[in-house]
Amino acid sequence: MGFVQGESRTQGSLFPVSLDELIGDDHLVRVIDLWVDRVEVGRLGFARAQPKHTGRPPYDPADLLKLYLYGYLNQVRSSRKLEREAQRNIELLWLLRQLRPDFKTIANFRRENGQALVLACRAFVGFCREQSLVTGQLVAIDGSKFGAVASKRKVISKAKLARERERIDARIAQYLVELDAADRSEGDEAVPDQAQLSTTIARLKHQRDNVISAHALMEEMDVAHHVQGEPEARLMKTAQGPSRVAWNVQSAVDGEHGLIIHHEVTDEASDNRQLEPMAKAAQTVLGQAELTVVADAGYSNGAQLDACERSGIAAFVPPNRAINNQGDGALFQKDQFVFDAQRDGYHCPAGQFLARKQAMHKRREVIYAATVCGACPLKRQCTNAKYRHVSRHNHEAALESARARLEADPNKMRERRSLVEHPFGTLKTHILGNGRLLLRGASGARAEMALAVLAYNFRRVSNILGNGRIIEVLATA
Ligand code: SF4
Repeated sequence: MGFVQGESRTQGSLFPVSLDELIGDDHLVRVIDLWVDRVEVGRLGFARAQPKHTGRPPYDPADLLKLYLYGYLNQVRSSRKLEREAQRNIELLWLLRQLRPDFKTIANFRRENGQALVLACRAFVGFCREQSLVTGQLVAIDGSKFGAVASKRKVISKAKLARERERIDARIAQYLVELDAADRSEGDEAVPDQAQLSTTIARLKHQRDNVISAHALMEEMDVAHHVQGEPEARLMKTAQGPSRVAWNVQSAVDGEHGLIIHHEVTDEASDNRQLEPMAKAAQTVLGQAELTVVADAGYSNGAQLDACERSGIAAFVPPNRAINNQGDGALFQKDQFVFDAQRDGYHCPAGQFLARKQAMHKRREVIYAATVCGACPLKRQCTNAKYRHVSRHNHEAALESARARLEADPNKMRERRSLVEHPFGTLKTHILGNGRLLLRGASGARAEMALAVLAYNFRRVSNILGNGRIIEVLATA
């Protein structure tokens, strides 16, 4: 028996097959096509959205947005690869109506339209809200590190500069000794040439001046390190262990279907100052006066929890503070002292009052102290010192509320994990390949993350509703 045979390449056809017939009715490219046409790229601020009357006609930004969205959905991110795919990939030939932009046009589009891409990403979140896929009942906030373009070798720190200066100084000193020897033994061929030595010393001195000015500049800018070629990115610790030059990408994920409703690319190595801006941004996206958010202990920040409380945001965040048990837990613990907000002090287990003693501004706390401990019958259970002290964080009430909420609903942390792990896992493994961005600078990182998040949400909605249903909705919109 022979093999299965294909059709002859030279076989003619009575009814030629059109490109459209090769693309299924509910294919994802049809969804991309309809959604991008519906979004009206001109309103989002894409460059060249209005063609000029003169000169060579540009590509429609809508077509280039379709190309990029298709690319990010299929792990094709480089402009050269997209150029190749546009020439041979039948789905792209259909999507772009056989347009074949070159890689420079493709690359320029992404580089020039960072903000418009962010707005396109937001427009899709708006579409999700219209379809009731986002309910805003619970929002999980989390951050993850995405590699920047520069490698760790490009990082310059003050310590590295100091070591470099020491090395140059040692070499200059060594050459000066050799220059001295050359001065003393003129005509001796074994001694290096004086002119050559002087040039080398001058070159090293120039290098040292550069190192000194770089150090001074870092002092002036108050930065711990600088990344050559990627000055806006920072060296950050990653969950995998070693630090890398990266961006800290923050995301707010809606609890209903795990859609990312807001994201930000930041250069902050820690999540500690991100709770309030992310929660408030999610609140704006959802248009809700009240919001419940959940985040891990890295977001525990008294001032930000306080600000959230005042803005109608109930945050579930585990406190990230040392317990500091008194007497290894054998003595009265802090929770046995009751705070009296009106009198600004604590009532101790013996019924005595601990008044405010000192504000510790650096530690952002206030120390309260008792004054009658000497005669107290409970003293041996309370303190080994002369008097008992109790400290209170400046935003203790907000930290306490967050802790109390978690104690009342411990499942929230489990919900948080299941919500935030999926988006970042998908972004890193199925959209960005290795979790490393291709464009330099904060604007480049923002453009790429906007496309990646748009692709993530797009795929997710496609899985939830099905392409056929989305096509139906978009076609009637
Ligand atoms: S030792 Fe002082 S603080 Fe402790 S219970 Fe007695 S009076 Fe109160």
